[in-house]
Amino acid sequence: MNVLSQTIDDYTRPQAHGPASSLHNTITPAPATKLLGNRTYRDYSTASLLGEAEAWLWDLTEIDADPSSWSFPKESRAYAKWRLTEAITELERRDSLRSSSTAPRWPARFPDHRPKAATIKDALTVADYLTRRGVNLERAGDRLKARCPLPGHDDATPSFVVYPGERGWYCFGCHRGGDVFNLDMFLSGEADFGATVTALAAEAGVV
Ligand SMILES: [Zn+2]
Repeated sequence: MNVLSQTIDDYTRPQAHGPASSLHNTITPAPATKLLGNRTYRDYSTASLLGEAEAWLWDLTEIDADPSSWSFPKESRAYAKWRLTEAITELERRDSLRSSSTAPRWPARFPDHRPKAATIKDALTVADYLTRRGVNLERAGDRLKARCPLPGHDDATPSFVVYPGERGWYCFGCHRGGDVFNLDMFLSGEADFGATVTALAAEAGVV
């Protein structure tokens, strides 16, 4: 797909690993989340759909950054991820139709960092990234575990897990997860994905 930034892709991926896989049966909308009403994403313009995906991504970002500001952060996060996944599914459907002669013009909104991001992930695993920053990783079966290094989580036991392949991570204590990019965004405080790609490209030696 050539639709959305790696950030959105990354937010949808952790659900295949950790407890967030309960996504599809935890869709209780919280007061602070938006409701779609009777409209489906097929009725949206592509520009609106991109905006919708972006809005859900902002919700996820805020839930992760400040869970206490949400009445039901865990449920809201699952709901937002579900909606984001739905929006991306529709965007991917349209993406596959883009080359058709009758297809409407695609709005250009998101810079596509994915090709470079994928190269960086191969060159700089989550385990490499953390080891470089002095985080002590212990092997536990096919995973690596550590005390959570994320800001705001004073982890007494190793709740932070790096999954096999060392591309994905999840903290069972503070319920944050993702890949090396959002890990760096959590740790550095950098909010811009493009800037994070540039920084990690330099660290990974990727041009
Ligand atoms: Zn944590």
